[in-house]
Amino acid sequence: MKSQLVVLPVNGNGHHTANLKVIAKDKDSYDPDFEGLVEQMLLRLGEDPERDGLQRTPLRVAKAMDFLTSGYQTSLDEVVNEALFEDDSEEMVIVKDIEFYSLCEHHMLPFFGKAHVGYLPNGKIIGLSKVARLVDLFARRLQVQERLTNQIAQAMMEILDARGVGVVLEGSHFCMMMRGVQKQNSTTITSAMRGVFKDDAQVRKEFMSLVRS
Ligand code: ZN
Repeated sequence: MKSQLVVLPVNGNGHHTANLKVIAKDKDSYDPDFEGLVEQMLLRLGEDPERDGLQRTPLRVAKAMDFLTSGYQTSLDEVVNEALFEDDSEEMVIVKDIEFYSLCEHHMLPFFGKAHVGYLPNGKIIGLSKVARLVDLFARRLQVQERLTNQIAQAMMEILDARGVGVVLEGSHFCMMMRGVQKQNSTTITSAMRGVFKDDAQVRKEFMSLVRS
């Protein structure tokens, strides 16, 4: 029944223009199937999808969800984009406090926080901004924090063939804050260690102390 929907056009000032009705909704459509689902959800919540504030909500939600899950459409190669450089440095590299925003797969509610990513090079280093983009690649999916942490570590090992990789994530979960146990101040910390970060307690200790400093 989409074609029956009455949508009032909006003028440049954001106000509805009078007396102009029945504009085909698909005139300004992004993903009709997705928007239909959101409309159903609004109805199920007892809302009126036709009221002013909600008319473009299905479209906005569809766009927002596409962005927040854009990691599914992005490959590791695209992210790295040849920003790997030969280098014989042997010291630990750490990019810390990388903010991430993800959606928990159990409730599709946000969880967010900081990622700390370190590695010991083995002949190759990576552009630092790429480390942050790599975090986004896996964060922009439906996730659990444990898997997100592991996927970042795994990808770093794959592309760098590093001597070792360490990843620590600190996350706050809206599904714990707004609902369920309603704990606003708890933080979930997860870590994934690969190579010497896993096998060598000294390396792990150095990484953890630099992350905490
Ligand atoms: Zn959840």
